Amino acid sequence: MTSTTEISSPQWRHWRLEREADGLAWLTIDRADSAVNALSAEVMTELAQVLDSLQSAPPTGLIIRSGKAAGFIAGADVEEFVGLDTPQQAHALVERGWQLFNRLASVPYPTLALIQGHCLGGGLELALACRYRLAVDVPGTSLALPEVMLGIFPGWGGMRRLPALIGPAAALDMMLTGRPADARKAAALGLVDARVPPRLSDTTARRHVLSGKPAHRARGIAAWMNHAPFKSLVAKRAQKQVEAKDPQGHYPAAPAIITLWSQYDGNALAAPQVIDRILTSDTARNLLRVFRLQERLKSCGKAREGISPVQHVHVVGAGTMGGDIAAWCALKGMTVTLQDQDAARIAPAIGRATALYARKLKDPYAARAAADRLVPDPAGDGVTRADLVIEAITEQVEAKQALYRAVESRMKPDAILATNTSSLSLATLRTGLTQPHRLIGIHFFNPVAQMPLVEVVQAGPDEQGIQARACAFVGQLGKLPLPVSDAPGFLVNAVLAPYMLAAMRQVDDGVSPETIDRAMTDFGMPMGPLELADTVGLDIALAAGQQLTQQAKPPRCLADRISRGDLGRKSGQGFYAWHDGKARKQQPATPPAGMAEKLIAPLIERTQQQVDKGVVADADLADAGVIFGTGFAPFTGGPLHYRNNKLHNTSTT
Ligand code: NAD
Repeated sequence: MTSTTEISSPQWRHWRLEREADGLAWLTIDRADSAVNALSAEVMTELAQVLDSLQSAPPTGLIIRSGKAAGFIAGADVEEFVGLDTPQQAHALVERGWQLFNRLASVPYPTLALIQGHCLGGGLELALACRYRLAVDVPGTSLALPEVMLGIFPGWGGMRRLPALIGPAAALDMMLTGRPADARKAAALGLVDARVPPRLSDTTARRHVLSGKPAHRARGIAAWMNHAPFKSLVAKRAQKQVEAKDPQGHYPAAPAIITLWSQYDGNALAAPQVIDRILTSDTARNLLRVFRLQERLKSCGKAREGISPVQHVHVVGAGTMGGDIAAWCALKGMTVTLQDQDAARIAPAIGRATALYARKLKDPYAARAAADRLVPDPAGDGVTRADLVIEAITEQVEAKQALYRAVESRMKPDAILATNTSSLSLATLRTGLTQPHRLIGIHFFNPVAQMPLVEVVQAGPDEQGIQARACAFVGQLGKLPLPVSDAPGFLVNAVLAPYMLAAMRQVDDGVSPETIDRAMTDFGMPMGPLELADTVGLDIALAAGQQLTQQAKPPRCLADRISRGDLGRKSGQGFYAWHDGKARKQQPATPPAGMAEKLIAPLIERTQQQVDKGVVADADLADAGVIFGTGFAPFTGGPLHYRNNKLHNTSTT
């Protein structure tokens, strides 16, 4: 930049305004006392003051950028949504951003948002109110309107400006799923004018904002779709898709977004009844709770001072779990050596990893680099170099202990030894180690690539901060660590076992699997308990059930199927016949009233027991673990929160 004059007024804590000699202004958002930029009421008030000051001496162009390494703007400040109780408060919140961004959109000088890193929710709505947008082409650049995931809508102009910019089909897709676009996709959609390499970002921004080019708009068919008669057709189609995904209407924000776009041109202030119904709903409150729980888990996985990131992971056991854990670690940039009894047993894991990289990393060079980081190592040479050794071999105490004896003395002195065991006691597994404290559980769920939660299991006193190091490793993998103690089934499997047992008892009583599963998907679970049992494998479900429910006699329906060799998805037949990875289901009878409540009760009760036993630190963490480990209907806020709300509602009616 050439010579600049800073004209920040001392009362602006969150914005810095600088002017170049030729009149171009750079406005940097750098929220005070925060690692990320969130649009709090104070930040928004100051932006209005900045616009006031520019009004008296308009710049030749204004470039808005971030002073944070973390990204551009993470969205509205969700902490200000907590305690949003009255219609007046909800209305004021919408009005604040709607008016301010309309004002930004109508300034007489050209404006440009220079986006690097995350640009989410209100942050993207601010960028949409600028005449131009540039996305800096770095891996973390990500543009999204994820409000729907919090049970709310993008009410600060996003529902009007995004469809006008990229057409309603692409815009509704982004708004109804919350799905992000990286720099490449954003440019392809027309969401940004161009993507730029970091070293050219400032000069390109400068040239672009002064270019006098007309603002980008959706054209052709995409533009027509914003107008009658096509608009109502697009709305109907989107409505149908939303209903197919959520037939019970558990998530009312998605249909509200369609209504606000199609009937109110994206202006929620014109539909105060919708604002009130959505923003102050239990669903929005519960989804906000889930968001905050997720942030809490993420903070357990934050890198801390004194904890070095894991660079080399050695995985022993290249089966279902070990192979996929190794693949995921290499995807996330670590060097991984993968050991099994021979090379032939490692080969299928390498094949799955290659498919994963092709799917996740669109760039073939990045996919190649990830594949190169994953090294087959049948001799186990990597043990001596690894910062972390993960054992994922057969579920047998003696086999695991023999392996630990063989690797412990070869490991680096400060390396961690982790087991992925689902059911064995860590206290038992540790016996025989010279340094028992260095064994910890890092319990991934299947399928590794899809499941966000990882339980970090502590077996005894944490002498060297091993748990914090293990949690930081899980954070490095982009997953959510849940610290738990060494108890049968830890948290997640312990709560699933009595729930699946209750479902199987219903089958024994003559209810069809389809009806039972339907009761639970209607309740809001991503999958019914019997389809889940088939997916896990009925032999594994039996073993877990026997251990975790203290039931001498397994359900008849389970024992019969296992004796016939019907083990679920992997054998092609279980509670359902499986074809191409999908369960074939008959049309279910309507589940009787109260069935879901009856099936869910043992899960809730067991969750409470695990809290009482101290397996997990508190009820909130337990809810978080059950939501992210089982998919427990997020709109309920978690099993214990759901139970408490029900008790509260019963006592107040
Ligand atoms: P798997 O049978 O698919 O794979 C185990 C692998 O370990 C096999 O390839 C086997 O050859 C190898 N192995 C056995 N002994 C070995 C040794 N001494 N040295 C090197 N390799 C050896 O098993 P899996 O389902 O991947 O389970 C592995 C672990 O993960 C178990 O502890 C299990 O409880 C746990 N787990 C499994 C799941 C699941 O859904 N499958 C989920 C979470 C945790």
